[in-house]
Amino acid sequence: MNIDFLNKTVVITGASRGIGKDIATQFAKRNANTVLISRDLTKLKKIEKEFKKFNNSILSIALDVSDLNSFISAIKIIEKKFNTIDILINNAGVTKDNLILRLNESDWDNVINVNLKGCFNGIKAVSKNMIRNKKGKIINISSIIGLTGNIGQSNYAASKAGIIGLTKSIAKEFSSRNINVNAIAPGYIETDMTDALNEDKQSKFIKKIPLNRLGKTNDVSNLVLYLASEFSDYITGQTVTIDGGLTI
Ligand code: NAP
Repeated sequence: MNIDFLNKTVVITGASRGIGKDIATQFAKRNANTVLISRDLTKLKKIEKEFKKFNNSILSIALDVSDLNSFISAIKIIEKKFNTIDILINNAGVTKDNLILRLNESDWDNVINVNLKGCFNGIKAVSKNMIRNKKGKIINISSIIGLTGNIGQSNYAASKAGIIGLTKSIAKEFSSRNINVNAIAPGYIETDMTDALNEDKQSKFIKKIPLNRLGKTNDVSNLVLYLASEFSDYITGQTVTIDGGLTI
């Protein structure tokens, strides 16, 4: 499958590391105008330098996805530089795990605000541009935890399940505008997020995964590329699980 994004603009949140950085790399490699978003401009500028070899336009913007006004201002900057926004990847996410009896209100609010409201903010900010252009692809990164729930992750599971409902609703709202909205539910992918688990926990997880390994960031990026391309034009409102068979 030869996918190229020449003259397309993609906005990726949480692009400073992990899954988001790999997604950004795959788009930059395939000639997209690539917009990197996270809170850390220094990290993004470093990635911009790494991407020089791809010879296309890269723009870095530091913002907190939980703040709608910052997102709207960022979109204005992107529109000035690239005019259209073709693809939005809402990937930024955090965990603040605790059992419900110990989970405090601020850790609940923070996870919901970054993971779920962050997706709402991204969609809200780009939607006028996409509607005007009568095309677009929006991909929201959920999680298998949003499908199954997990002990100690009620805030994270609620945010990721919320993303699935948001995805279905916006897919219906935008279907007449030629905008596809889909979600991806990764299982355990090797990143800083899963490195936080100790080795013993990791090997226990691997034993439960039919394909017998953790996922790689590239496994997720390949699916993102497909959902962002014309090969998936007839798919909308779906949540695609990518977990090595863990939730079968
Ligand atoms: P990660 O390595 O911890 O990276 C998280 C990214 O989100 C960073 O780039 C971080 O950037 C950004 N971010 C966090 N809070 C932000 C905020 N308020 N505003 C803007 N950016 C923010 O995580 P990951 O493992 O790559 O996960 C990426 C996505 O996949 C998340 O939504 C996660 O829930 C989901 N996911 C991951 C796994 C997994 O196994 N890794 C499984 C299922 C789903 P800065 O710190 O530079 O701001």
